[in-house]
Amino acid sequence: MSKQLPRVLLIDDEELIHRLLKIRLGAEKIELQGAYTSSEGLQMARELQPDVILLDLRIDEEMDGLQVLQHIKGNEGTQRIAVILISGASDTEHRVRALDLGAIDFISKPFEVTELRARLRGAIRLQQTIRMLEQRAQVDGSTGLWNRSYFDQRLRAEIAEARRHERPLSIVMTDIDHFKVLNDTHGHLFGDKVIEQYATILSRGRASDIACRFGGDEFAVILPHTTLVEAKDVAERYRIMLREQVWPRHDTLIVTASLGVADLASCGEGGRKSDLLTLADGALLVAKGAERGGRDRVMTCEGMVPGENVGHPDATHRP
Ligand code: GH3
Ligand code: MG
Repeated sequence: MSKQLPRVLLIDDEELIHRLLKIRLGAEKIELQGAYTSSEGLQMARELQPDVILLDLRIDEEMDGLQVLQHIKGNEGTQRIAVILISGASDTEHRVRALDLGAIDFISKPFEVTELRARLRGAIRLQQTIRMLEQRAQVDGSTGLWNRSYFDQRLRAEIAEARRHERPLSIVMTDIDHFKVLNDTHGHLFGDKVIEQYATILSRGRASDIACRFGGDEFAVILPHTTLVEAKDVAERYRIMLREQVWPRHDTLIVTASLGVADLASCGEGGRKSDLLTLADGALLVAKGAERGGRDRVMTCEGMVPGENVGHPDATHRP
């Protein structure tokens, strides 16, 4: 996890408040940023992704604090930021409204800095706990790889990113060969070790590669900025690393996997996430196919068309 300091954004039109907080929060382990207008505040919230926003209830003519809060909470890119509202002591009605709109706390002006500090720390702690829980829910417990739900969400984002910048993007789908036999012969615990080791192999690539466990003995790796030809080489490296893996107390054992590779360019103009997955899955099916020595090989989606039945007729990977 990143060691970045918690980021706090103050949205307030009064220069004095900015100066005051800069000095009084100087000893806190936070990075404090400031915005002076509602529109500047909303833009900085999107771009900086602060952990906490300190929001003045009365900012400017354009929008009041409650409207800004509504924007923050109504926008997917900012809704998870904790907002502490700064309000006048007599704004009870507004405070209730702010809490209903999703503010987690409020503080009255003129404020007691020790109280503000304590509330800020509380909000940061809460955000960190939420983030940790969210991350835990996206990680596969036994391998430490990302899980299927993270894969889906991340692949969608990476496809959008690749399209925006006209960059290549590939994925590798892979499944260990005859894993049931391996479990039956050497035991489930050893099977678990094999899964862990393959996960390690799949994580050894570039830092930008995103290795995920799909479930069971099936994995997928998202390879941003990678063409089909390059991705095939990457998959080939995974294959060789697994087959050359020496297994303690099982000296002669060779474990292999099959791999299917697909890229965004093969999905055509409006290709979606599901097309990319279908192509990679189809390539994996062909790799698994028993004909001409199936398994322990890499196949790409070359020549396949998304939407058509891309599975090989002799594929035995799936029913
Ligand atoms: P194929 O070459 O066609 O992939 O054959 P296979 O035997 O590997 O078939 P499949 O991939 O369908 O089998 C996966 C097996 O993996 C089924 C299940 O018993 C086992 N398995 C799933 N998750 C785990 C796990 O976490 N640990 C262990 N040890 N085994 C698992
Ligand atoms: Mg398998």
